[in-house]
Amino acid sequence: DILIKVEDLHKVYHNKLHALDGVSEEILKGEVVVIVGPSGSGKSTFLRSLNLLEVPTSGHVYFEGVDITSKETNIDHHRQKMGMVFQHFNLFPHKTILENITLAPIKLLKKSRAEAESRAMELLKLVGLEAKANSYPSQLSGGQKQRIAIIRSLAMDPDVMLFDEPTSALDPEMVGEVLELMKRLADDGMTMVVVTHEMGFAKEVATRVIFMDEGKIKEQGAPAEFFDHP
Ligand code: ADP
Ligand code: ADP
Repeated sequence: DILIKVEDLHKVYHNKLHALDGVSEEILKGEVVVIVGPSGSGKSTFLRSLNLLEVPTSGHVYFEGVDITSKETNIDHHRQKMGMVFQHFNLFPHKTILENITLAPIKLLKKSRAEAESRAMELLKLVGLEAKANSYPSQLSGGQKQRIAIIRSLAMDPDVMLFDEPTSALDPEMVGEVLELMKRLADDGMTMVVVTHEMGFAKEVATRVIFMDEGKIKEQGAPAEFFDHP
C-alpha cells in the first residue's frame, strides 16, 4: 500500500538555490525510511515537502491517494495525519506537558478534555513520564522534551511520523532514549520517514535507506546492501 507518493519535486528557493532537483519517491505503509546525505543536500526540504511545510516549486505530493499539492485540497485535514518532530522540540513553553499534548486533539480532533487527557496520560506512561504531566517544558531535560514532542504527535493518531534530525540538538547521553522510543514505534508498525545522522539507527531500524546529494536521490536500498556498498 502506497502511503505517500512524490512526483518530480523541485524546490527553488528565493536565492535561486535548487534545493530539490527532481525527486520522485514512494513510501509504503509500515516502511521506516531513513534519509541520509551531506549537509545542504536537500534532506530537510524533502521531508518538509511531504506535509507541505515547504511548498514545492513544481511537482506533486500524494498522501493516501490525494494530491495535496492541488489547490483544491484542504491541507490541514491531511497534515493532521502526518506527525512531525523537529530538532528543536517546539513545545509551548507556557503550557504544561499535559496541555502541550492535549491542545491539538481538543482543538483539531474535537476530543473532549477528559478523553484527550486520558489518552495523554496513557502516552506519558508509555514513555515513563507521567510524573511530568503538570511540569513545564523548561523543567525537563532535552531527551525528555523530545520524547514529549513525539508522544504529542502520537496523540493525533497520525498515519505517518516525519522526523527531522530528532536527536541532533541533544546531549549525547540523551540520544539513546529518543532513538529507543523511535525504535518502539517502528516495531509497532508506524510508518516513519527519518532524517538523521545516526547510522546505527539506520542500520538497525530502517527498512530502506535513501541517500541524497545535491537535491537528488542518488542511491537507495535495504540497510544491509546499502551499508555494504563499496
Ligand atoms: P539538508 O537537510 O540536507 O541539510 P536542506 O534541505 O536544509 O538540506 O537545504 C538544502 C539547501 O537549501 C541548502 O543549501 C540550504 O541552505 C537551502 N535552504 C534551505 N532552506 C532554505 C530557505 N528557507 N531559503 C533559502 N535556502 C534554503
Ligand atoms: P535544519 O536544522 O533543518 O538543518 P537549518 O539550520 O538548515 O535547518 O535552517 C534553519 C531554518 O533556516 C530553516 O527554516 C531553513 O528553511 C532556513 N534556511 C536554511 N538555509 C537557508 C538559506 N540559505 N537561506 C535562508 N533560509 C535558510
